[in-house]
Amino acid sequence: MAQDQGRVAIIGAGHVGATTAYALMLRALFREIVLIDRDTALAAAEAADIADAGGLTRPATVRAGDYADAASARIAILTAGAATHGDESRLAVAGKSAEIVRGCVRELMAAGFDGIIVVAANPVDLMTWVARDESGLPDARVIGTGTLLDSNRLRTMLARRLNIAPASVDAMMLGEHGDTSFAALSIAQAGGMALTRMAPEGADIDAASLTDAVRQAAYRIVEGKGYTSFGIATAIVRICEAIVRNEHVILPVSTVLTGQFGISDLCLSLPCVLGAEGVEHVLEPDMDDGERASFAHSARVVGAALEGVKGKADSGGRGRFSCAE
Ligand code: NAD
Repeated sequence: MAQDQGRVAIIGAGHVGATTAYALMLRALFREIVLIDRDTALAAAEAADIADAGGLTRPATVRAGDYADAASARIAILTAGAATHGDESRLAVAGKSAEIVRGCVRELMAAGFDGIIVVAANPVDLMTWVARDESGLPDARVIGTGTLLDSNRLRTMLARRLNIAPASVDAMMLGEHGDTSFAALSIAQAGGMALTRMAPEGADIDAASLTDAVRQAAYRIVEGKGYTSFGIATAIVRICEAIVRNEHVILPVSTVLTGQFGISDLCLSLPCVLGAEGVEHVLEPDMDDGERASFAHSARVVGAALEGVKGKADSGGRGRFSCAE
């Protein structure tokens, strides 16, 4: 189907989907934003509410629609999935989410979609794999938000501790977007200096405590308000912007691995070059031995969970993941 470069479709008009639509409108990246939800009344109401802001910001058409509308979109954002509650881990909702994601992607592809899919539904690494498996799109064109959000939590924490701007902190959480993500501090830097070297006396930049604080961040937000929305919506907008502006920017996102650090046929976050065609390169940063071990641990945990998802959804998947470490 011929692509409409100015159109984006958001599947799932819940907290994440609606906030993403609003953030996309403020950023003026698309002329038209289509919201799709099995709850059509919700999609229509959210679209109308967001459209009300249009006259005071930059105009974009925001409307509820269906898969026929999504077919020509440049990007389809997948936020329909099972939400977690309380201290429930993201992996605990894998089966439920996989069913939803597989169904949505099947309908999207049946309508003739041929753009880029950005996956936010959790557990995002597994759902990225499911979306790529069901869509049959090239690996580059199915991107999970992965640890982009976690990395920005890390950058903000480090910036506070070092008293510098988050934008000046080059630091990443890698691996699973979940309980095995880890701060790759050995490769973090600011102003050309290793962060571990520039920390002032008494500043706590211990990798283990930062990793724990980032892993806990979403749980604490969910405890307080029941869901997270602003951080993830902004991460989704950042990925869309990199694609629309063909930025070739490096961001940690979830993508299918093809041998990086010995891992194949599994989605995890590593720094990726993002441009108009999606993921252009997956980089293998110079992590230390402990970080490599943490990455391998993420792969084992996500790989084991993936086997469960494949079994339940009867995917006829493309193969069993492999992890050399
Ligand atoms: P929500 O329950 O508010 O919204 C989900 C929406 O999906 C609902 O409106 C529901 O009607 C819709 N939906 C469900 N099945 C559907 C289907 N088959 N077709 C169309 N629509 C369908 O949940 P939320 O808080 O917006 O979270 C959505 C997903 O995003 C969850 O999986 C959540 O865990 C995930 N999430 C991911 C991140 C991240 O960092 N990747 C952050 C926050 C939330």
